[in-house]
Amino acid sequence: MGTFFGVSQEVLDSVWNNLTAPDGNSVTYISMEIGGDRDVFAPVKRYLLKNNIQGSPDFKLNAYIQSFLHGPVKIPNYSGGLGILAGDTLKSFADLKTPVASVSLLYRKGYFSQLVDLQLGQVSWATAWEPENTPSLYRVQDKNDPEKPLLIKVPFCGRYKNEADAYAHLWIKMEINEDLDFFVPQIMLDYSIPETPLWIRDAAHHLYDSSSEKVKATQRLLLGAGVIPAMKALGITSKTLHLNEQHGVVVALSLIAEKLSEKYGENSIHRATDDEIINITDEVAQNIVYTIHTPVKAGHDRFDKSIYDQLGHNFCVRILNLLAEDNEYGDKYNFTRMAMRINRATNSVSRLHKKVTQKQFPEYSEKIKAITNGVHHRTWTSEAKSELYDSYSELNNWRHDPSVFVNASFLLSNDNFREHFERAMLEDNTELITYINDMLLYHRKQMQETWIDPPNYLSQIDEKEAFFRPGIYTIGFARRFSTYKRADLIFDDIDALVEPIIENNYPVQIVYSGKAHPADEPGKLLIKSIIDIQDDLYHKSKGLAKLVFIPGYDMFIAKLMVAGVHAWLNCPKRPLEASGTSGMKAAMNGIPNISIMDGWWVEGYHGGQTGWKFGYEDPIESVSLSEHPNELLYVEDSTSFYKIFPEILNQFYDEALRPQYIDKCIMNLALNCSIFNTHRMASEYIERYELDLPPELNQRIDKLRALYDSDPDLPI
Ligand SMILES: *Cc1c(COP(=O)(O)O)cnc(C)c1O
Repeated sequence: MGTFFGVSQEVLDSVWNNLTAPDGNSVTYISMEIGGDRDVFAPVKRYLLKNNIQGSPDFKLNAYIQSFLHGPVKIPNYSGGLGILAGDTLKSFADLKTPVASVSLLYRKGYFSQLVDLQLGQVSWATAWEPENTPSLYRVQDKNDPEKPLLIKVPFCGRYKNEADAYAHLWIKMEINEDLDFFVPQIMLDYSIPETPLWIRDAAHHLYDSSSEKVKATQRLLLGAGVIPAMKALGITSKTLHLNEQHGVVVALSLIAEKLSEKYGENSIHRATDDEIINITDEVAQNIVYTIHTPVKAGHDRFDKSIYDQLGHNFCVRILNLLAEDNEYGDKYNFTRMAMRINRATNSVSRLHKKVTQKQFPEYSEKIKAITNGVHHRTWTSEAKSELYDSYSELNNWRHDPSVFVNASFLLSNDNFREHFERAMLEDNTELITYINDMLLYHRKQMQETWIDPPNYLSQIDEKEAFFRPGIYTIGFARRFSTYKRADLIFDDIDALVEPIIENNYPVQIVYSGKAHPADEPGKLLIKSIIDIQDDLYHKSKGLAKLVFIPGYDMFIAKLMVAGVHAWLNCPKRPLEASGTSGMKAAMNGIPNISIMDGWWVEGYHGGQTGWKFGYEDPIESVSLSEHPNELLYVEDSTSFYKIFPEILNQFYDEALRPQYIDKCIMNLALNCSIFNTHRMASEYIERYELDLPPELNQRIDKLRALYDSDPDLPI
């Protein structure tokens, strides 16, 4: 008997047959991080619970069932938006039965765990976890010696002078869809094994370890150089490789090396002329689809050439000299530019981001298109809202086909639905508030029993006043803390913020969460400043405005927050938020956004039908891309927020106006759930992949595509 993976043998065979077929009619999706915590989406567990399967007399099967029901739920291999997007995308590919595999890295110490201390701000430490015990993860064993894990050799960068070969085990996470009739395998390279040289192993522990430039560059190699050996070891034949950000672009160098040796013979690749290399590069480009995710400079990899003298081989350095020149810095390689160069399709992640990317890379302007991001609607819809959507025939089949949400506009005038929506919203709000109040109690205890000084002012004041209450207007903000996201924007002038609160006696609860990269000092200062504001805000508002910070932001907290608040706040400096996805998660729950006109919100705002906008909106100038503290437009954009804030509060609290608030909620379902989901996004990508698909799948994709075109200029 073989191992049971959660799908039938038939499904297993058919998926592998597709991925390993000689025609290469599949895609391999390459990403530095993938978010897939099981406490927000776990189809196999759901299936077991739904069918009341609690165990089995078969010893092996029972162990399997127990691990799914009670095993670890976290896979801490993501840091934020990029990884969550990758996970959501793969889930939609699985739902749409599209032949896709993915390659990423396995980080045995995760990203990092966050503790927040009132005095110290963010404190971080390694997140130890055990892939061995994590359900849905399997290590690939050696066919010839099933007792042993399969060992693959990864030549660092070039194919010759292999003095720095690394070795890896392969893990597969099965991203199984809800019908358990298709899956997308996520292949993760695990370099933390004795065969791999210590310096390479050390660089593989933490996602985005930036302790040195060399470690950072090594991580990019671990991903990029590992793709082809991993695919070959498993027999995966995908003709199309999708780079989710440029982190894995070194895969292109392996392909170039391979093609050169095919064409000119094993030993002649050093003799290839520059022109020959360029020609081969153009051939390789035909296999690559690339998505760029940010205009922010820190997101564009540049490495000192000297690092590649140490890491790469002569051949690799030669190709980098041809393809990765940096226009600004002669002593650096620019990997973003290289990724821009070597692909057949470049995608930005929203319409506005397309314009910005075209400005940043004018020489590639023609081929840059937009495919606006989305979120996996099933992952991010709360239980209460799912139950609501299940109850109305207008939204029939929403789990499989989010395009049915367009019918939500027919529910605007349905009083039953409106009441039911309010109940579901209160339920979600109560769940979030229970979590927060439990946290405050726990912090109070911690404060009394340990040296830790918890991050919330509320855990230090009189107990009666200290807690949050359900039904009170709750605003949420949670994302990575980096300066351009301006987490503290609305607190720029606390007096102005609390004015409408005091004047109308409207209580407000504000919930913050998020991590700063451990090396990002200004980001960490922002967290500290949010903690420091709490006291002032509380007193200036006469106790009406309460602000808490939830440490340890992850997918679970994200889901609790996006569903449990009454408004989702987004205040980046325009146009630096290329898309943003947490606002879409709120929309999946009918929660309106209050946002700067940046990223996806330019497309999701719909003239105010779905929420509010504020802040700078004029044309993009070159200074717009600056992250200099003096150019972050704090005063302009916060003033703009204070102007709309009274109206926002009135709509929520004034009974005569409240229906307008509920209209906005419902219009989020109609206009945003239907569009900003990864099913629609995946459909646009599938078109770009040029896959040959069965007619019934093409029909599903056409239906999703018919609702939206992220790039209206695109000739279809
Ligand atoms: C969705 C999500 C993000 C990304 O949110 P943005 O709005 O794109 O910044 C980051 N972290 C977690 C845990 C998330 O769930």
